[in-house]
Amino acid sequence: MPIIESTRAVTRWTTRIIPLFLVGVISYATYVVVGRVCSSYLINKRSELGPAIAILVLYFLLLLLMIGTYIRAVIAVLVDPGIVPLGPVAIEQRKREKENRRQGIQGHDLESRPYYGGVDLDPDSPGLEQFYTKDVFICENNGRPKWCSHCYNWKPDRAHHSTEIDRCVLRMDHYCPWVGGMIGENSFKFFVQFTSYTACYCAVVLGAAASSLRKEINEGSSLDPHFIPIIVLAAFFGLFTFLMTVTSVRYIFANMTNVDMLSSRTKVHQLAVRVPRGTESTDKFTVVTYPLPKLEEVTNGRSNDTARPRAVESRGASPQPNRVSPSTRDDLATRTFAILRTEPGENPWDIGAWKNWQSVMGTNVLDWILPFRRSPCANHESHDSFYPMGKVLADVLARYNLNDLAINNGVGLEMKELRKGNRS
Ligand SMILES: [Zn+2]
Repeated sequence: MPIIESTRAVTRWTTRIIPLFLVGVISYATYVVVGRVCSSYLINKRSELGPAIAILVLYFLLLLLMIGTYIRAVIAVLVDPGIVPLGPVAIEQRKREKENRRQGIQGHDLESRPYYGGVDLDPDSPGLEQFYTKDVFICENNGRPKWCSHCYNWKPDRAHHSTEIDRCVLRMDHYCPWVGGMIGENSFKFFVQFTSYTACYCAVVLGAAASSLRKEINEGSSLDPHFIPIIVLAAFFGLFTFLMTVTSVRYIFANMTNVDMLSSRTKVHQLAVRVPRGTESTDKFTVVTYPLPKLEEVTNGRSNDTARPRAVESRGASPQPNRVSPSTRDDLATRTFAILRTEPGENPWDIGAWKNWQSVMGTNVLDWILPFRRSPCANHESHDSFYPMGKVLADVLARYNLNDLAINNGVGLEMKELRKGNRS
């Protein structure tokens, strides 16, 4: 599996140097805590074996958890960061760019320039089906999913394009130079575990060194020269990781990311919500039916750029007389979606603090504390939506008077129509 790294050389080098720096700081902290605080001062000088053992156990336990979560987060961001696959055009384009770079060709001809592909208007565009087989997805005004012109592919809900790694990342959070990659849905849990354990680790180092220093001052004995530097280092990293942890935990409980926070008060989400077949556009919303009609069905000899008007039925439009009538079976495979909007600042993925927590950290205590299993929210097998949606979706449906037609009974509705179809 290819390693996903930053596209910027400076960032790549920074992320390679940081682990060496961390190894240096941790080695020094281990020397001070084990050699100076516990061995020289507490055991040899004061004969306090109990406190020394307690500090050592806590220290190495947290060190182990810190290193374990760090390695897990680094593996996740470098090898499996949860990125959206590239579309065929982007794959070709990047191959060509790589080849040109290898041959030293500068970007003066059209072919070697970065390619920004417009939306794929093909009604059978690869990947569309993974959207319309769900009951709700984020869409544009024309009812199609969002499109990434850099990756030349459809963007699943909550995916954003990262210029740092030049790929769309699922539930993208932020670029972290400390772990050397983009924090997203596959790594956020391990990142939070890492910052939590690092904050606790720093607290133990700080507590051990500060209490020993205070005793030395009270005794009037000579001060260990290593205590003050380690106190400064532990306080700095401790405060930094503590604040990171508090912020991240707050986001987890609200089901937000750093990217979501940028527009959290004003963001309006546009949702394609599945409604029964035959639902017509009203003055409040338009509907779109998938699979999208073939271009020849749509245009009937007119130019290709009129694909949209049929894809999104205009308000109150009557069915087009020259539409190719599909078989009943094909008709049953079609899915109609109403295009609805949230109010500004509403977060459709907020499913309540407790469930939000479980969706990222896991459903049991072992998952919360150990860096093995990925977040449950990284599983996208549900046919409801890419990420579970909560009360906001119910509110939106109520506002559009659609609660009865809902996706909630979408499957039941399908079965009823199927039986009806078989009888007739
Ligand atoms: Zn992208």
